[in-house]
Amino acid sequence: MATPKVSKVTCLRRCATRQRARAGSVLKIVGTELAAVNAVTYLGSYGSGDNTTVKVRAGSEHRLNARVPIGAVTGPMSLATSSGGRSAATKPVLILPPLPPEPNAELSPVPGPRMNGAPRIETGTSRTKAFVDARPGVTFSFRLSGASAAALKVELVNATDGVAVKTWTPQEVAPDQVQSISWNGRLGRMAAKPGRYSFRLTAASADGAEVRSAQSGDIDRDSFDLYDNIFPVRGRHDFGGAGAHFGAGRAGHTHQGQDVMAKCGTRMVAARGGRIEFKQYHAAAGHYIVIDGDGTDLDYVYMHLDQPSPFGEGDRVYTGQTIGAVGDSGNAQGCHLHFELWSAPGWYDGGKPFDPLPSLTAWDSWS
Ligand SMILES: [Zn+2]
Repeated sequence: MATPKVSKVTCLRRCATRQRARAGSVLKIVGTELAAVNAVTYLGSYGSGDNTTVKVRAGSEHRLNARVPIGAVTGPMSLATSSGGRSAATKPVLILPPLPPEPNAELSPVPGPRMNGAPRIETGTSRTKAFVDARPGVTFSFRLSGASAAALKVELVNATDGVAVKTWTPQEVAPDQVQSISWNGRLGRMAAKPGRYSFRLTAASADGAEVRSAQSGDIDRDSFDLYDNIFPVRGRHDFGGAGAHFGAGRAGHTHQGQDVMAKCGTRMVAARGGRIEFKQYHAAAGHYIVIDGDGTDLDYVYMHLDQPSPFGEGDRVYTGQTIGAVGDSGNAQGCHLHFELWSAPGWYDGGKPFDPLPSLTAWDSWS
Protein backbone atom coordinates (compact mmCIF):
# COMPACT_ATOMS: atom_id res chain seq x y z
CA MET A 1 0.00 0.00 0.00
CA ALA A 2 1.37 3.38 -0.99
CA THR A 3 2.12 5.71 1.89
CA PRO A 4 2.20 9.29 0.67
CA LYS A 5 5.02 11.41 1.96
CA VAL A 6 5.06 15.20 1.96
CA SER A 7 8.29 17.13 1.58
CA LYS A 8 7.05 20.67 1.03
CA VAL A 9 3.84 22.71 1.15
CA THR A 10 3.62 26.19 -0.37
CA CYS A 11 0.74 28.47 -1.11
CA LEU A 12 0.10 28.64 -4.85
CA ARG A 13 -2.93 30.85 -5.53
CA ARG A 14 -5.03 33.39 -3.64
CA CYS A 15 -2.47 33.46 -0.85
CA ALA A 16 -1.66 36.00 1.82
CA THR A 17 2.02 35.22 1.04
CA ARG A 18 3.83 32.14 -0.26
CA GLN A 19 4.13 30.82 3.26
CA ARG A 20 0.81 32.00 4.55
CA ALA A 21 -2.48 30.72 3.19
CA ARG A 22 -6.03 31.69 3.99
CA ALA A 23 -9.38 30.06 3.42
CA GLY A 24 -9.88 29.95 -0.33
CA SER A 25 -6.15 29.60 -1.11
CA VAL A 26 -4.79 26.74 -3.18
CA LEU A 27 -1.76 24.93 -1.78
CA LYS A 28 0.91 23.12 -3.74
CA ILE A 29 1.99 19.90 -2.05
CA VAL A 30 5.22 18.24 -3.16
CA GLY A 31 6.29 14.75 -2.10
CA THR A 32 6.32 11.10 -3.11
CA GLU A 33 3.61 8.48 -3.72
CA LEU A 34 0.98 11.17 -4.12
CA ALA A 35 -0.85 9.69 -7.14
CA ALA A 36 -3.45 7.79 -5.09
CA VAL A 37 -4.17 10.64 -2.68
CA ASN A 38 -7.85 11.57 -2.69
CA ALA A 39 -8.27 13.63 0.47
CA VAL A 40 -6.34 16.19 2.47
CA THR A 41 -7.13 16.84 6.13
CA TYR A 42 -6.22 20.08 7.86
CA LEU A 43 -5.56 18.96 11.41
CA GLY A 44 -5.63 22.41 13.05
CA SER A 45 -4.67 22.52 16.68
CA TYR A 46 -5.03 19.86 19.37
CA GLY A 47 -7.99 17.50 19.03
CA SER A 48 -10.15 16.65 16.03
CA GLY A 49 -12.87 19.24 16.64
CA ASP A 50 -11.28 21.70 14.21
CA ASN A 51 -10.30 19.18 11.53
CA THR A 52 -11.47 19.88 8.00
CA THR A 53 -11.08 17.58 5.03
CA VAL A 54 -11.20 18.36 1.31
CA LYS A 55 -11.27 15.99 -1.61
CA VAL A 56 -8.41 16.29 -4.06
CA ARG A 57 -7.58 14.86 -7.45
CA ALA A 58 -3.97 13.85 -7.58
CA GLY A 59 -2.16 14.87 -10.73
CA SER A 60 1.08 12.98 -10.35
CA GLU A 61 3.31 10.98 -8.05
CA HIS A 62 5.15 14.09 -6.94
CA ARG A 63 2.73 16.94 -6.67
CA LEU A 64 -0.87 17.83 -6.06
CA ASN A 65 -2.95 20.93 -5.35
CA ALA A 66 -5.40 21.27 -2.49
CA ARG A 67 -7.71 24.12 -1.67
CA VAL A 68 -7.98 25.49 1.84
CA PRO A 69 -11.59 25.23 3.03
CA ILE A 70 -13.11 28.04 5.01
CA GLY A 71 -13.03 26.22 8.34
CA ALA A 72 -9.34 25.31 8.15
CA VAL A 73 -7.04 26.73 10.81
CA THR A 74 -3.27 26.76 11.27
CA GLY A 75 -1.79 23.33 11.88
CA PRO A 76 -0.30 20.28 10.20
CA MET A 77 -1.91 18.46 7.27
CA SER A 78 -2.30 14.81 6.52
CA LEU A 79 -2.94 13.11 3.17
CA ALA A 80 -5.09 10.02 2.66
CA THR A 81 -5.29 7.62 -0.27
CA SER A 82 -8.31 5.75 -1.60
CA SER A 83 -6.85 2.48 -0.29
CA GLY A 84 -6.42 3.71 3.27
CA GLY A 85 -2.82 4.94 3.18
CA ARG A 86 -2.11 8.01 5.23
CA SER A 87 0.85 10.34 5.37
CA ALA A 88 2.52 11.50 8.54
CA ALA A 89 1.40 14.92 9.73
CA THR A 90 3.25 17.71 7.94
CA LYS A 91 4.87 20.73 9.50
CA PRO A 92 2.23 23.29 10.46
CA VAL A 93 0.76 25.31 7.61
CA LEU A 94 -0.07 28.91 8.49
CA ILE A 95 -3.66 29.71 7.65
CA LEU A 96 -5.15 33.18 8.13
CA PRO A 97 -8.88 33.82 8.54
CA PRO A 98 -10.78 34.29 5.28
CA LEU A 99 -11.27 37.72 3.75
CA PRO A 100 -14.85 38.98 3.81
CA PRO A 101 -16.75 38.16 0.62
CA GLU A 102 -16.26 40.58 -2.26
CA PRO A 103 -19.37 42.64 -2.92
CA ASN A 104 -20.80 41.97 -6.38
CA ALA A 105 -24.22 43.56 -6.09
CA GLU A 106 -24.30 44.69 -9.73
CA LEU A 107 -24.06 42.21 -12.57
CA SER A 108 -20.46 41.76 -13.65
CA PRO A 109 -18.92 39.53 -16.34
CA VAL A 110 -17.58 36.22 -15.14
CA PRO A 111 -13.84 35.86 -15.68
CA GLY A 112 -12.16 32.54 -16.26
CA PRO A 113 -12.39 29.66 -18.68
CA ARG A 114 -15.32 29.23 -21.03
CA MET A 115 -15.75 26.47 -23.59
CA ASN A 116 -16.01 27.56 -27.19
CA GLY A 117 -19.63 28.19 -28.10
CA ALA A 118 -20.77 28.50 -24.50
CA PRO A 119 -22.90 31.49 -23.51
CA ARG A 120 -21.26 34.49 -21.87
CA ILE A 121 -22.51 35.06 -18.36
CA GLU A 122 -22.73 37.92 -15.93
CA THR A 123 -23.66 37.39 -12.30
CA GLY A 124 -24.34 39.42 -9.18
CA THR A 125 -25.29 38.79 -5.56
CA SER A 126 -27.31 41.32 -3.59
CA ARG A 127 -25.45 41.20 -0.27
CA THR A 128 -22.37 39.82 1.44
CA LYS A 129 -24.09 39.33 4.79
CA ALA A 130 -27.36 37.45 5.09
CA PHE A 131 -29.56 36.31 7.95
CA VAL A 132 -31.64 33.19 8.34
CA ASP A 133 -35.33 33.93 7.78
CA ALA A 134 -34.79 37.53 6.67
CA ARG A 135 -36.84 39.25 3.96
CA PRO A 136 -35.61 40.04 1.43
CA GLY A 137 -33.14 37.20 1.48
CA VAL A 138 -30.00 37.12 -0.58
CA THR A 139 -30.63 37.45 -4.31
CA PHE A 140 -28.48 35.98 -7.05
CA SER A 141 -28.96 37.55 -10.48
CA PHE A 142 -27.56 36.54 -13.82
CA ARG A 143 -27.71 37.32 -17.51
CA LEU A 144 -26.63 35.25 -20.49
CA SER A 145 -25.54 36.55 -23.84
CA GLY A 146 -24.02 35.19 -27.03
CA ALA A 147 -25.13 31.57 -27.44
CA SER A 148 -28.51 30.66 -26.00
CA ALA A 149 -28.46 28.27 -23.10
CA ALA A 150 -30.17 24.91 -23.23
CA ALA A 151 -29.65 24.10 -19.58
CA LEU A 152 -29.23 26.33 -16.57
CA LYS A 153 -28.32 25.34 -13.06
CA VAL A 154 -27.73 27.48 -10.00
CA GLU A 155 -26.08 25.80 -7.05
CA LEU A 156 -25.66 27.13 -3.56
CA VAL A 157 -22.33 25.86 -2.30
CA ASN A 158 -21.30 25.67 1.34
CA ALA A 159 -17.76 27.03 1.31
CA THR A 160 -16.71 24.98 4.33
CA ASP A 161 -16.91 21.65 2.54
CA GLY A 162 -17.59 22.61 -1.08
CA VAL A 163 -20.89 20.72 -1.05
CA ALA A 164 -23.86 22.10 -3.00
CA VAL A 165 -26.67 22.30 -0.44
CA LYS A 166 -29.38 23.54 -2.81
CA THR A 167 -29.94 23.55 -6.56
CA TRP A 168 -32.25 25.58 -8.76
CA THR A 169 -32.91 24.85 -12.43
CA PRO A 170 -34.22 28.12 -13.83
CA GLN A 171 -36.29 28.14 -16.99
CA GLU A 172 -34.48 29.14 -20.11
CA VAL A 173 -35.28 32.71 -21.14
CA ALA A 174 -34.40 34.91 -24.07
CA PRO A 175 -30.75 36.04 -24.07
CA ASP A 176 -29.90 39.35 -22.38
CA GLN A 177 -32.72 39.09 -19.87
CA VAL A 178 -31.83 39.27 -16.20
CA GLN A 179 -33.03 36.35 -14.08
CA SER A 180 -32.93 36.15 -10.30
CA ILE A 181 -33.33 33.65 -7.56
CA SER A 182 -33.65 34.44 -3.87
CA TRP A 183 -32.74 32.47 -0.77
CA ASN A 184 -33.86 32.98 2.82
CA GLY A 185 -31.25 30.90 4.62
CA ARG A 186 -33.42 27.83 4.91
CA LEU A 187 -33.08 24.32 3.56
CA GLY A 188 -36.59 22.97 3.54
CA ARG A 189 -37.97 23.56 7.01
CA MET A 190 -34.54 23.73 8.60
CA ALA A 191 -32.31 26.76 8.99
CA ALA A 192 -29.06 26.33 7.07
CA LYS A 193 -25.85 26.24 9.07
CA PRO A 194 -24.27 29.68 9.50
CA GLY A 195 -21.13 30.21 7.44
CA ARG A 196 -19.84 31.20 4.01
CA TYR A 197 -21.89 30.26 0.95
CA SER A 198 -21.46 30.93 -2.76
CA PHE A 199 -23.81 30.84 -5.71
CA ARG A 200 -22.54 29.02 -8.78
CA LEU A 201 -24.23 29.20 -12.16
CA THR A 202 -23.66 26.58 -14.82
CA ALA A 203 -24.99 27.27 -18.30
CA ALA A 204 -24.68 24.92 -21.26
CA SER A 205 -25.46 25.61 -24.90
CA ALA A 206 -27.54 23.18 -26.96
CA ASP A 207 -24.40 21.42 -28.22
CA GLY A 208 -23.06 20.98 -24.70
CA ALA A 209 -20.55 23.82 -24.42
CA GLU A 210 -20.55 24.71 -20.75
CA VAL A 211 -19.62 27.73 -18.69
CA ARG A 212 -19.51 28.16 -14.92
CA SER A 213 -19.60 31.35 -12.91
CA ALA A 214 -17.15 30.05 -10.32
CA GLN A 215 -14.75 27.19 -9.91
CA SER A 216 -15.26 24.80 -7.04
CA GLY A 217 -13.66 26.18 -3.92
CA ASP A 218 -14.07 29.81 -5.00
CA ILE A 219 -15.25 31.50 -1.82
CA ASP A 220 -15.09 35.06 -3.11
CA ARG A 221 -17.28 35.36 -6.18
CA ASP A 222 -21.01 35.63 -5.43
CA SER A 223 -20.32 34.71 -1.84
CA PHE A 224 -21.95 35.83 1.36
CA ASP A 225 -21.81 35.01 5.03
CA LEU A 226 -24.97 33.61 6.58
CA TYR A 227 -25.76 34.43 10.22
CA ASP A 228 -28.49 32.97 12.38
CA ASN A 229 -29.50 36.13 14.27
CA ILE A 230 -29.17 39.91 14.04
CA PHE A 231 -28.54 42.20 16.99
CA PRO A 232 -31.97 43.57 17.98
CA VAL A 233 -31.06 47.16 18.97
CA ARG A 234 -30.11 49.17 15.87
CA GLY A 235 -28.27 52.06 17.46
CA ARG A 236 -25.72 52.89 20.13
CA HIS A 237 -26.07 50.59 23.09
CA ASP A 238 -24.28 48.91 25.96
CA PHE A 239 -24.96 46.04 28.32
CA GLY A 240 -25.14 48.11 31.53
CA GLY A 241 -23.67 47.21 34.90
CA ALA A 242 -23.94 44.10 37.04
CA GLY A 243 -27.60 44.80 37.76
CA ALA A 244 -28.41 44.58 34.05
CA HIS A 245 -27.18 41.01 33.78
CA PHE A 246 -29.09 37.77 33.88
CA GLY A 247 -29.50 36.48 37.44
CA ALA A 248 -29.06 39.88 39.11
CA GLY A 249 -31.10 40.31 42.29
CA ARG A 250 -34.52 41.95 42.12
CA ALA A 251 -37.14 42.41 44.84
CA GLY A 252 -38.62 38.94 45.28
CA HIS A 253 -37.01 37.35 42.19
CA THR A 254 -33.93 37.38 39.98
CA HIS A 255 -33.47 39.20 36.70
CA GLN A 256 -34.49 36.79 33.94
CA GLY A 257 -32.89 38.59 31.03
CA GLN A 258 -30.19 40.96 29.87
CA ASP A 259 -30.79 44.69 29.63
CA VAL A 260 -29.52 46.52 26.55
CA MET A 261 -29.20 50.22 27.31
CA ALA A 262 -30.05 52.56 24.44
CA LYS A 263 -31.80 55.87 23.85
CA CYS A 264 -35.58 55.79 23.91
CA GLY A 265 -36.81 55.54 20.33
CA THR A 266 -33.87 53.50 19.07
CA ARG A 267 -35.15 51.12 16.41
CA MET A 268 -35.59 47.54 17.50
CA VAL A 269 -35.73 44.54 15.18
CA ALA A 270 -36.52 40.86 15.52
CA ALA A 271 -33.22 39.09 16.28
CA ARG A 272 -34.83 36.06 14.67
CA GLY A 273 -38.07 35.93 12.72
CA GLY A 274 -41.03 33.88 13.82
CA ARG A 275 -44.59 34.13 15.00
CA ILE A 276 -45.68 36.66 17.63
CA GLU A 277 -46.96 34.59 20.52
CA PHE A 278 -47.79 37.42 22.91
CA LYS A 279 -48.18 41.13 22.58
CA GLN A 280 -49.36 42.65 25.83
CA TYR A 281 -48.92 45.30 28.47
CA HIS A 282 -47.78 44.39 31.98
CA ALA A 283 -47.15 46.73 34.92
CA ALA A 284 -43.53 45.57 35.25
CA ALA A 285 -42.66 44.55 31.66
CA GLY A 286 -44.46 47.46 30.02
CA HIS A 287 -45.22 46.94 26.35
CA TYR A 288 -43.72 43.58 25.44
CA ILE A 289 -43.76 40.92 22.79
CA VAL A 290 -42.75 37.28 22.66
CA ILE A 291 -41.65 35.75 19.36
CA ASP A 292 -41.47 32.02 18.75
CA GLY A 293 -38.17 31.94 16.83
CA ASP A 294 -38.63 30.34 13.42
CA GLY A 295 -36.62 27.16 12.98
CA THR A 296 -35.44 27.31 16.61
CA ASP A 297 -36.61 25.88 19.93
CA LEU A 298 -36.38 29.33 21.46
CA ASP A 299 -38.72 32.11 22.47
CA TYR A 300 -37.41 35.66 22.12
CA VAL A 301 -38.80 38.20 24.59
CA TYR A 302 -38.60 42.00 24.18
CA MET A 303 -39.79 44.30 27.00
CA HIS A 304 -40.24 48.02 27.84
CA LEU A 305 -41.04 49.03 24.23
CA ASP A 306 -41.86 52.73 23.96
CA GLN A 307 -45.14 51.90 22.18
CA PRO A 308 -47.08 48.72 21.57
CA SER A 309 -45.46 46.79 18.70
CA PRO A 310 -47.29 47.37 15.40
CA PHE A 311 -47.60 43.60 15.10
CA GLY A 312 -50.30 41.53 16.76
CA GLU A 313 -50.44 38.07 18.23
CA GLY A 314 -50.24 35.48 15.46
CA ASP A 315 -48.43 37.77 13.02
CA ARG A 316 -45.37 36.50 11.22
CA VAL A 317 -42.25 38.68 11.38
CA TYR A 318 -38.87 38.14 9.73
CA THR A 319 -35.31 38.41 11.00
CA GLY A 320 -34.27 42.05 11.00
CA GLN A 321 -37.80 43.40 10.65
CA THR A 322 -38.62 46.42 12.83
CA ILE A 323 -40.85 45.32 15.69
CA GLY A 324 -40.82 48.50 17.77
CA ALA A 325 -38.50 50.92 19.53
CA VAL A 326 -36.59 50.97 22.79
CA GLY A 327 -38.54 52.61 25.61
CA ASP A 328 -39.05 52.68 29.35
CA SER A 329 -42.66 51.53 29.63
CA GLY A 330 -43.59 49.55 32.75
CA ASN A 331 -41.14 49.35 35.62
CA ALA A 332 -37.94 50.46 33.87
CA GLN A 333 -35.08 52.57 35.17
CA GLY A 334 -34.00 54.44 32.07
CA CYS A 335 -34.57 53.49 28.47
CA HIS A 336 -33.54 49.96 27.60
CA LEU A 337 -34.53 46.73 25.98
CA HIS A 338 -35.02 43.94 28.45
CA PHE A 339 -34.28 40.83 26.42
CA GLU A 340 -34.93 37.21 27.35
CA LEU A 341 -34.27 33.87 25.67
CA TRP A 342 -36.33 30.87 26.72
CA SER A 343 -35.74 27.21 25.98
CA ALA A 344 -38.46 24.87 24.67
CA PRO A 345 -41.31 24.38 25.13
CA GLY A 346 -41.39 28.11 25.65
CA TRP A 347 -42.08 31.23 27.65
CA TYR A 348 -44.00 30.39 30.86
CA ASP A 349 -45.00 27.21 29.11
CA GLY A 350 -42.51 24.77 30.58
CA GLY A 351 -39.35 26.39 29.18
CA LYS A 352 -36.63 28.09 31.16
CA PRO A 353 -34.93 31.45 30.70
CA PHE A 354 -31.17 31.32 30.20
CA ASP A 355 -28.44 33.95 30.06
CA PRO A 356 -28.76 35.63 26.66
CA LEU A 357 -25.57 37.72 26.97
CA PRO A 358 -23.26 35.29 25.10
CA SER A 359 -25.74 35.23 22.21
CA LEU A 360 -26.22 39.01 22.24
CA THR A 361 -22.46 39.58 22.29
CA ALA A 362 -21.98 37.26 19.31
CA TRP A 363 -24.82 38.88 17.33
CA ASP A 364 -23.40 42.30 18.18
CA SER A 365 -20.02 41.29 16.72
CA TRP A 366 -21.40 40.74 13.22
CA SER A 367 -24.45 42.96 12.96
ZN1 LIG B 1 -34.33 43.87 32.62
